[in-house]
Formats: sequence, C-alpha cells, structure tokens
Amino acid sequence: MSKHPAAPNNTTDTGEALPSHLFRKAVEQAALAISITDARANILYANGAFQRITGYGQEEVIGHNESVLSYRVTPKLVYETLWAQIQRQRPWNGLLVNKRKDGSRYLADVTITPVVGEEGNTTHYLGMHRDVTEVHRLERQVQNQKTLIESVVDAAQVAIVLLDEQERVLLDNQEYKKLIGDLGKEPAVKLLAALRAQMGDAFTKAYDKHRNIAAREVSIDSRNRSTRWFSCAVSWFEEHAVGADAFYEPAHRHYLLLTIQDISELKRQQEALRINSLHALLSEQERIQGLRETLAGAVYQLEGPLNMLSAVANMMERRRDAGSDLPAASALEEAMQKSREVLETLRACIPDHNNEAMQSVDINEVLADVLKLTTANLLGAGIVVDWTPASGSAVISGHPAELSNLFKQLISNAIEAVNERRGAQRELRITCTSRADHIEIFVEDSGPGIAEELRYKVFQPFFTTKGASKKHLGLGLAMAQEIVTGHNGTIDIDPAYHAGCRVRVQLPFAAGVSHAQ
Ligand code: FAD
Repeated sequence: MSKHPAAPNNTTDTGEALPSHLFRKAVEQAALAISITDARANILYANGAFQRITGYGQEEVIGHNESVLSYRVTPKLVYETLWAQIQRQRPWNGLLVNKRKDGSRYLADVTITPVVGEEGNTTHYLGMHRDVTEVHRLERQVQNQKTLIESVVDAAQVAIVLLDEQERVLLDNQEYKKLIGDLGKEPAVKLLAALRAQMGDAFTKAYDKHRNIAAREVSIDSRNRSTRWFSCAVSWFEEHAVGADAFYEPAHRHYLLLTIQDISELKRQQEALRINSLHALLSEQERIQGLRETLAGAVYQLEGPLNMLSAVANMMERRRDAGSDLPAASALEEAMQKSREVLETLRACIPDHNNEAMQSVDINEVLADVLKLTTANLLGAGIVVDWTPASGSAVISGHPAELSNLFKQLISNAIEAVNERRGAQRELRITCTSRADHIEIFVEDSGPGIAEELRYKVFQPFFTTKGASKKHLGLGLAMAQEIVTGHNGTIDIDPAYHAGCRVRVQLPFAAGVSHAQ
C-alpha cells in the first residue's frame, strides 16, 4: 500500500481531510475492546466493546489502572516482558487472563501499542483486546483429543501407521517401531508391496479408489531371514485441507491407515498342528499298511501249503475214481473246503486303500511337508538334505495322503540306505522339476545303491534285500509303485547312477489342472 509522503495523518491520498470525529466514531464502534491509557497504564478512554467484554462502564474504569482487569494468575514474567517491550516503544502482543466486573474470567488476546509524542517519548498506550476463551477452549480440546488418540494408538497391541499417498510415514506407534527393528525400514512399504503382489489388480483398484481392504494375511522375510506372517488391513482417511487457499475452495488429501498384526506365532502353531495331523494320518495309514502287509503275507504263506493239499486231494480223487475206497479223501476235501473259507475270510479282512478324493495337490508342498515330518530322523542320522523344489507349478490331480506316503516311504528307504553304508558322505538329494506334461521327482541317496539285476525285483511284493532277520516284508516299494500307478505315473531306479540309489518318479498333470513351466 502506498502512502502519500506529504499527506498529513488525517488526510486521504487525494488530499481530502478526514474529520477527526470520524476517528473517534470508528474507535467507538469498533468490535475490538480498545482503551487508551497514560504512560502508567491508567485508563483515559475505553470504547463500547471494552465495556461489553469487561462489564465495566466508562466511568467505572476511567482513572483506574489496566491492572483492574488482571486475574492475578498471569505469571509476573509476562507483565515484565510486556512492559519491557512497550517501554522500548515496541508493540506487544500476548495472552492475559482477565477478570470481568462480575468476577468471571476470560482469556484476552491483547495488543499494546505505544503512542509516541512530538518529543519522542511515550505519552500514551493504545490497548486492543478480544475474548479468545472459546478459540482457546477449542484448540485445547483438539489438542486433548490428539493426545488421547496418540496414547490409545501407542498403547494398541497392533502396529498402526499412517502414510500419505506417496507412502511416506506421517505417524506410527510403538508396535510399529518394534517392527522397524525386526524388518528394517520401511515395514509398511514392504507389507503394502506384499499385499500388492498377492492381490494384483484388486489391490490397485482399491488403492486408486481409496477403498478399504479388509484384513489379509501376508508374509515377508525378517532381517534374520525367518518368514514372518502379518494380518494387514488398509483404511483410508480423508483430510480437508486447512490452508487459506482451501477456505472457499475445499480440497482433500487422502491418507492410508495400515494396521498390522503379527500372526507369526499363530501361523507357527497352525503349521505345527497341520504337520502333527499329517503325521497322525500317515501313521494311521502306515498301521493299516502294516496290517495289509501282515494279512497279505499270511494269505500268501497259506496259499502254498493249500495248493499242495489241493494237489494231494486231486490225486486221491483220481484213485477213488479208479475204484479204491479212500475214506480219508472226503475228510481231506472237507478240511480243504474249511481252509479255503478261512483264507477267504482272511482276504476279506485285508483293509482297502482309503478312498481319498482326487484333488489338486502341490508336489512341492507334499515334499516340503514330508521333509518336515522326517527332519528328526534326518538330523539324527546326520544326513545333509539338498532339496530343490520345482520352479514352475507342481500341482497335479491326486490323493494327497497317498502321495505323502509315497515320498515318506522313499525318504525312509533313503535314510536306511545311508545308515547302512556308514560312509563319509551322508546325503539325500530331492529334486522336483516341472516338465511339459508331468512332474519329475528324483530321490537320491548316498547309500550302497541297488544292484542292476534287482532294479525291477525290488518293486515285487515281499521282495527285500534286508534279510529275514529285519522287520521288513518287502512291501514298501511295492506300495510305492501301487500309488504311482494309481496316479498314472511311473517309478524306476536309475541304472546309470552309481553314487548310491536314485529313484525317479514321474507323475502326469491331470487334464484340466493348470500348470506353468
Ligand atoms: P503491577 O505491579 O502493575 O506490574 C507487574 C510488573 O509489570 C512490575 O513488576 C513491572 O515490571 C511492570 N510494570 C507495571 N507497571 C509498570 C509501569 N508503569 N512501568 C514499568 N513497568 C511496569 N494487564 C492485564 O492484566 N490485563 C489487561 O487487559 C491489560 N491491558 C493493558 C493495556 C495497556 C494499554 C497497558 C499499558 C497495560 C495493560 N495491562 C493489562 C498491564 C497492567 O497495567 C498491569 O501491568 C498488569 O495488570 C499487572 O498488574 P499487577 O497489579 O499485577 O502488577
């Protein structure tokens, strides 16, 4: 704003003189409480607003010091600063606790301006103040609520973090800070990336439209490389811009509130429970398999002598036809009939394979589970395991428990073989590869291997290389072959492998089950 240098104080820029009573009227009618004091703060004039705010009439304050308004709780230092400032002929602005005529208190936002006379000394002071009690109350209330929210957020047992749209952290709590220690900087960004990878387009859509995302489980690797599981939920918060520009033209900013709950322990418990259930299921299957082996063995053993008896009976029958009367023949026939019935009863007692439904089975997962189940045995035997899962999809259509049993059998065989050799090399290598139309699994051990001539025999029921003294009936590989055949696959022993035994299993992808190379 330009000021005409030559224009006297009460003239306009056009030179027109403003009548001095106009100044008085303007002050008199101003909405601010205005007072004029002498150099010692004795009130000489107070306007209408001053009277309305303080409750004092003109005649009640004229001649009295401004201190009549003091409630005596404003610290002495404030007044000393006020006076030091105005005595240096500088305006002072600050908050004072004032008392009205009726004794009620209000918070005054006071500005005092020294009025300097012709000779350069302060002759008067101009005081202006307004009641800001309500503004202060609202400010405090907001502050209290902010403190309350921060304390609640900080005390929460879940990690909470507020991010702007550029994913910069604006606010976090103690639990979130702990995560920084475990996962490095910035856990929220890593978790959002994991959510994005897991949800794909659904995440992008929800993110772009500022839609909330209900709690989802994601996993990321911690600094010590262990996998940590988190349940993450995203909610959006819209803030109305507070700048002057946005006063008449409201603008909004979006903030992302991410709540993160560490569920690693829960996941570990669930996993332990799952492995225990699998263990129980496979043990039960093993028990049934043992029963099948025993009964099948008994039937097999009984069939031999019964066949011999059958031959004798035939012989006797022929003699009877030739005229000799053999009373023992009918007794033998009766005994054999009974024996056949007993054999049939035994056969009927052989338990069936359980009728597990065909479903999608991830061979990588099956192998990982079986390795978990056999960890104690592998560690106990000091065997080093080299496990390479298929990089593409390893999902086939099959019976999960049967397939688990198959690989458990092959791994148990491998452990026994390595234990038999007692060599320096104690290794088990399992490799799973996705081929064009099937999955190929190699189970290699550094045991003594299987002689070339026995490569096919070992798959025959009751064939064992372990000798009769050991508790093997020789049905393990026969059972393995039965399972593989049931899945339209093949199992064989690599004749070219001489560092131990290498069993190859090939399982086709069933039609309709999608897979990627
Ligand atoms: P006081 O004894 O009056 O003063 C406390 C301290 O202030 C002293 O120790 C001294 O350092 C300083 N002081 C006081 N008077 C003088 C002086 N004449 N010269 C130098 N230093 C001095 N106070 C309010 O509480 N509410 C108001 O709304 C208010 N408005 C004011 C408006 C104007 C224009 C002026 C000039 C002052 C105003 N004051 C106001 C200040 C007021 O005059 C008192 O200084 C204050 O109220 C403290 O009073 P007291 O009796 O508690 O202590």
